[in-house]
Amino acid sequence: MHQNILRTIPSVNELLESPEISKLTDLYPRPLVVDAVREVLEGIRQSLTDKTVSKEDIKASSQPFAFSPQKLHDLIQHVLQQKLCGIEHAINATGIILHTGLGRAPLAEEAAKQIQNVLESFCTLEIEKLSGRRGSRYHNIEQLICTITGAESALVVNNNAAAVLLALDTLARGKEVVISRSHLVEIGGEFRMPDVMTKSGAILVEVGTTNKTYLKDYENAITENTGLILKVHQSNFKIVGFTETVDLKDLVSLGQTRNIPVMYDLGSGALIELQKYGLPYEPTVQESIKAGVDVVTFSTDKLLGGPQGGIIAGKKKWVELIKKNPLTRALRVGKLTIAALEATLRLYLEEGLALKNIPVLKMILTPLETIEERCKRVINKVGSETRVCLNLSMVDGLSEMGGGALPGENIPTKLVCIHSEKINAIELANRLRNSTPPIFARIEQDRVHLDMRTVYDEEVDIISRALENIFSS
Ligand SMILES: *Cc1c(COP(=O)(O)O)cnc(C)c1O
Repeated sequence: MHQNILRTIPSVNELLESPEISKLTDLYPRPLVVDAVREVLEGIRQSLTDKTVSKEDIKASSQPFAFSPQKLHDLIQHVLQQKLCGIEHAINATGIILHTGLGRAPLAEEAAKQIQNVLESFCTLEIEKLSGRRGSRYHNIEQLICTITGAESALVVNNNAAAVLLALDTLARGKEVVISRSHLVEIGGEFRMPDVMTKSGAILVEVGTTNKTYLKDYENAITENTGLILKVHQSNFKIVGFTETVDLKDLVSLGQTRNIPVMYDLGSGALIELQKYGLPYEPTVQESIKAGVDVVTFSTDKLLGGPQGGIIAGKKKWVELIKKNPLTRALRVGKLTIAALEATLRLYLEEGLALKNIPVLKMILTPLETIEERCKRVINKVGSETRVCLNLSMVDGLSEMGGGALPGENIPTKLVCIHSEKINAIELANRLRNSTPPIFARIEQDRVHLDMRTVYDEEVDIISRALENIFSS
């Protein structure tokens, strides 16, 4: 029924040659403009042939093609802008330190510099400089991991999910894996322990209950086909109240008497005892290795504060077996990861350096006075004209570790609370996100809140300027 109107829609070429749209090819790469023109025209065509279009819409479009050149230009430019939104620097004012959406751990300056230094030209990825012989890309990083954690052997793969999959595939394919029901966790982003176990070809043997598992539950489940005892850190939740878990040491002795390896998926993998600094307990890699566990797996972009990766560390006997698995090649890391992870790990050789230079650790330990000072700077830097249309105040609140560490344990913080009669909270958060660089905030009780714990000192003034821009237009 809309045949006539459809016929009046211009062609892709007509549009590209029109004065309005040809201007866009000066501003944006031509292939993107062509794609955007196509998409917009297709959208218009679809909306006209869509049977669900209301009577109003049909009436509105029942004249010849009704889009003005300006309107088309705006639509196409909007599509182009979306196409150009790639990965870019963002300001994290959510107070969630390990925010997967915002790239998890930001790198230490040392790590970022190392990427630049090493990778702009060729590098000694797999050659031993002294002998000139072919070496392993993991050699140096393995030594670092062993020195820091006390493990005999170690390997780095694409992420912790890959580490778990690879370890299970090597140690437990076709065999039974004994695991407490309280450890069958979902990490998010499709990582569910029971599914990963099944995928690796392991046979899941659940023991105990959600809240209570005893050593005898593990003992009773062991058969001659048991390949592994698995413990998983409850990274993102807590079971409290009437509970019982088995000590890692007891699991290790059980494994040793029955000649079965014990693996611990630590998730976050803290390399520094946080309790010393007044923070809640998070199991460290070192204490697990010391307890005698055969294999540990953990992420390198959570509490460790490095690039995305997963570490498998532990007893030589098992880790060497894992290294020989053909899957290892499929899950291996590139030189970017190696450069950044080596530089990050080197900082851990001296605890003070790690605490001072690794952003994740620095953010956890930032004193309230510093955060308070950042809040005041945001507030004071906003000019008096802008201040007329918005109300800025400093309030108390809580930051979150996020990313599967310290679940339920929030860290006291200070936030800038913004209220405006002109723009509601959702719209304001929207505009902040659409600033350059994008600013990510929290909305609580209908107010936009900026948690200054996760904001870098250099970013404080950018926030004030973004607020001025939003309220001056
Ligand atoms: C985060 C986490 C994973 C997944 O690690 P990625 O590095 O995100 O792949 C697996 N297990 C546990 C316990 C975790 O906390």
